[in-house]
Amino acid sequence: MKILRYPHPALRYKCKPIQRINQELRDITAEMFETMYASEGVGLAANQVGLPLQMFVVNATGDKEKKEEEYVFINPVILKKNGNATDNEGCLSFPEIHADVVRSETIDVEAVSLTGEVHRFQWNGRPARIVQHEFDHLLGIGFTDRLSAAASAAVSESLDVLQSVFDSERRVGAVPDDETIFRELKVWEQKFC
Ligand code: ZN
Repeated sequence: MKILRYPHPALRYKCKPIQRINQELRDITAEMFETMYASEGVGLAANQVGLPLQMFVVNATGDKEKKEEEYVFINPVILKKNGNATDNEGCLSFPEIHADVVRSETIDVEAVSLTGEVHRFQWNGRPARIVQHEFDHLLGIGFTDRLSAAASAAVSESLDVLQSVFDSERRVGAVPDDETIFRELKVWEQKFC
Protein backbone atom coordinates (compact mmCIF):
# COMPACT_ATOMS: atom_id res chain seq x y z
CA MET A 1 0.00 0.00 0.00
CA LYS A 2 1.11 3.51 -0.76
CA ILE A 3 0.25 6.38 1.55
CA LEU A 4 -1.25 9.20 -0.50
CA ARG A 5 0.00 12.67 0.13
CA TYR A 6 -1.58 16.09 0.10
CA PRO A 7 -3.20 17.24 -2.21
CA HIS A 8 -4.30 13.84 -3.54
CA PRO A 9 -8.08 14.02 -4.20
CA ALA A 10 -8.75 10.76 -2.27
CA LEU A 11 -7.87 12.71 0.90
CA ARG A 12 -10.78 15.07 0.20
CA TYR A 13 -13.20 12.22 -0.49
CA LYS A 14 -16.10 11.61 1.89
CA CYS A 15 -15.76 7.95 2.76
CA LYS A 16 -18.79 5.66 2.57
CA PRO A 17 -20.14 3.30 5.26
CA ILE A 18 -18.99 -0.30 4.96
CA GLN A 19 -21.73 -2.90 4.47
CA ARG A 20 -19.61 -6.02 3.95
CA ILE A 21 -17.08 -7.17 6.50
CA ASN A 22 -15.27 -10.15 5.00
CA GLN A 23 -11.83 -11.76 4.80
CA GLU A 24 -10.70 -9.30 2.13
CA LEU A 25 -11.49 -6.41 4.48
CA ARG A 26 -9.61 -8.12 7.32
CA ASP A 27 -6.61 -8.55 5.00
CA ILE A 28 -6.81 -4.87 4.06
CA THR A 29 -6.73 -3.76 7.71
CA ALA A 30 -3.71 -6.01 8.38
CA GLU A 31 -1.95 -4.35 5.46
CA MET A 32 -2.97 -0.91 6.74
CA PHE A 33 -1.35 -1.67 10.11
CA GLU A 34 1.82 -2.83 8.33
CA THR A 35 1.89 0.33 6.21
CA MET A 36 1.30 2.50 9.28
CA TYR A 37 4.12 0.86 11.27
CA ALA A 38 6.51 1.08 8.31
CA SER A 39 5.99 4.87 8.33
CA GLU A 40 6.12 5.11 12.13
CA GLY A 41 2.53 6.29 12.38
CA VAL A 42 -0.03 5.81 15.15
CA GLY A 43 -3.16 5.94 12.97
CA LEU A 44 -4.12 5.48 9.33
CA ALA A 45 -7.43 6.15 7.57
CA ALA A 46 -8.63 4.11 4.59
CA ASN A 47 -8.69 7.04 2.16
CA GLN A 48 -5.03 7.72 2.95
CA VAL A 49 -4.33 4.50 1.05
CA GLY A 50 -6.92 5.15 -1.66
CA LEU A 51 -9.86 3.26 -0.16
CA PRO A 52 -13.06 5.34 0.07
CA LEU A 53 -14.34 3.44 3.13
CA GLN A 54 -15.32 4.59 6.62
CA MET A 55 -12.56 2.78 8.39
CA PHE A 56 -9.32 3.59 10.19
CA VAL A 57 -6.73 1.75 12.25
CA VAL A 58 -5.05 3.01 15.42
CA ASN A 59 -2.22 1.90 17.66
CA ALA A 60 -1.53 4.88 19.90
CA THR A 61 1.76 3.35 21.05
CA GLY A 62 2.99 2.93 17.45
CA ASP A 63 4.58 -0.31 18.68
CA LYS A 64 3.81 -3.21 16.36
CA GLU A 65 4.66 -5.72 19.09
CA LYS A 66 1.72 -4.38 21.11
CA LYS A 67 -1.12 -6.10 19.24
CA GLU A 68 -3.43 -5.49 22.21
CA GLU A 69 -3.19 -1.76 21.41
CA GLU A 70 -4.46 -2.25 17.85
CA TYR A 71 -7.95 -0.94 17.13
CA VAL A 72 -9.94 -1.06 13.91
CA PHE A 73 -12.78 1.47 13.68
CA ILE A 74 -15.44 0.69 11.06
CA ASN A 75 -18.29 3.18 10.44
CA PRO A 76 -17.29 5.20 13.53
CA VAL A 77 -19.61 7.74 15.13
CA ILE A 78 -18.46 10.29 17.71
CA LEU A 79 -21.28 10.34 20.25
CA LYS A 80 -19.95 12.85 22.73
CA LYS A 81 -17.05 15.30 23.10
CA ASN A 82 -15.80 16.98 26.24
CA GLY A 83 -13.18 19.57 27.09
CA ASN A 84 -10.49 21.10 24.91
CA ALA A 85 -6.81 20.39 24.55
CA THR A 86 -4.10 21.79 22.31
CA ASP A 87 -1.23 19.62 21.15
CA ASN A 88 1.14 19.16 18.25
CA GLU A 89 0.08 16.94 15.35
CA GLY A 90 1.53 15.54 12.20
CA CYS A 91 0.12 13.29 9.50
CA LEU A 92 1.57 10.64 7.18
CA SER A 93 -0.16 12.40 4.27
CA PHE A 94 1.52 15.73 5.16
CA PRO A 95 5.15 14.67 5.65
CA GLU A 96 7.40 17.01 7.66
CA ILE A 97 4.51 19.29 8.68
CA HIS A 98 3.69 19.70 12.36
CA ALA A 99 1.36 22.16 14.04
CA ASP A 100 -0.78 22.68 17.12
CA VAL A 101 -4.42 21.63 16.81
CA VAL A 102 -7.24 22.16 19.30
CA ARG A 103 -9.25 18.95 19.83
CA SER A 104 -11.70 17.64 22.40
CA GLU A 105 -10.02 16.17 25.45
CA THR A 106 -12.43 13.25 25.84
CA ILE A 107 -14.63 11.51 23.28
CA ASP A 108 -17.21 8.75 23.29
CA VAL A 109 -17.04 6.77 20.06
CA GLU A 110 -19.09 3.94 18.69
CA ALA A 111 -17.65 1.77 15.94
CA VAL A 112 -18.06 -1.65 14.37
CA SER A 113 -15.20 -4.13 14.79
CA LEU A 114 -13.83 -6.63 12.26
CA THR A 115 -16.12 -9.27 13.78
CA GLY A 116 -19.12 -7.07 13.04
CA GLU A 117 -19.85 -6.20 16.67
CA VAL A 118 -20.64 -2.66 17.76
CA HIS A 119 -18.24 -1.36 20.40
CA ARG A 120 -18.39 1.79 22.46
CA PHE A 121 -15.20 3.46 23.69
CA GLN A 122 -14.38 6.41 25.86
CA TRP A 123 -10.94 7.74 24.99
CA ASN A 124 -9.06 10.73 26.29
CA GLY A 125 -5.78 12.56 25.85
CA ARG A 126 -3.44 11.51 23.03
CA PRO A 127 -5.49 8.47 21.88
CA ALA A 128 -8.65 10.65 21.72
CA ARG A 129 -6.69 13.12 19.58
CA ILE A 130 -5.59 10.37 17.19
CA VAL A 131 -9.17 9.10 16.82
CA GLN A 132 -10.46 12.62 16.08
CA HIS A 133 -7.67 13.15 13.54
CA GLU A 134 -8.47 9.85 11.76
CA PHE A 135 -12.21 10.48 11.95
CA ASP A 136 -11.64 13.81 10.17
CA HIS A 137 -9.85 11.99 7.33
CA LEU A 138 -13.03 10.00 6.62
CA LEU A 139 -14.86 13.32 6.12
CA GLY A 140 -12.15 14.55 3.75
CA ILE A 141 -10.67 16.87 6.39
CA GLY A 142 -6.91 17.14 6.94
CA PHE A 143 -5.35 18.45 10.17
CA THR A 144 -4.08 21.53 8.32
CA ASP A 145 -7.75 22.52 7.86
CA ARG A 146 -8.00 22.89 11.63
CA LEU A 147 -5.15 25.32 12.27
CA SER A 148 -5.27 28.82 13.68
CA ALA A 149 -4.56 31.61 11.18
CA ALA A 150 -1.01 31.95 12.50
CA ALA A 151 -0.28 28.20 12.38
CA SER A 152 -1.84 28.04 8.93
CA ALA A 153 0.44 30.80 7.67
CA ALA A 154 3.44 28.99 9.17
CA VAL A 155 2.77 25.79 7.19
CA SER A 156 1.60 27.35 3.91
CA GLU A 157 5.02 27.20 2.28
CA SER A 158 5.37 23.49 3.14
CA LEU A 159 1.93 22.84 1.65
CA ASP A 160 3.00 24.65 -1.53
CA VAL A 161 6.01 22.32 -1.76
CA LEU A 162 3.76 19.24 -1.46
CA GLN A 163 1.47 20.74 -4.10
CA SER A 164 4.32 21.23 -6.55
CA VAL A 165 5.65 17.69 -5.93
CA PHE A 166 2.14 16.37 -6.64
CA ASP A 167 1.84 18.48 -9.79
CA SER A 168 5.15 17.23 -11.15
CA GLU A 169 4.26 13.59 -10.33
CA ARG A 170 1.09 14.11 -12.30
CA ARG A 171 2.94 15.59 -15.25
CA VAL A 172 5.10 12.47 -15.54
CA GLY A 173 2.05 10.20 -15.12
CA ALA A 174 2.96 8.88 -11.65
CA VAL A 175 -0.45 10.07 -10.41
CA PRO A 176 -3.55 9.38 -12.54
CA ASP A 177 -5.97 12.17 -13.54
CA ASP A 178 -8.98 12.95 -11.29
CA GLU A 179 -11.40 11.03 -13.49
CA THR A 180 -9.36 7.82 -13.20
CA ILE A 181 -8.92 8.29 -9.44
CA PHE A 182 -12.68 8.70 -8.85
CA ARG A 183 -13.46 5.74 -11.10
CA GLU A 184 -11.14 3.56 -9.01
CA LEU A 185 -12.71 4.84 -5.76
CA LYS A 186 -16.17 3.87 -7.09
CA VAL A 187 -14.98 0.33 -7.78
CA TRP A 188 -13.95 -0.06 -4.12
CA GLU A 189 -17.25 1.43 -2.98
CA GLN A 190 -19.20 -1.07 -5.04
CA LYS A 191 -17.24 -3.85 -3.44
CA PHE A 192 -17.72 -2.96 0.22
CA CYS A 193 -20.54 -0.37 0.47
ZN1 ZN B 1 -3.56 12.01 9.14
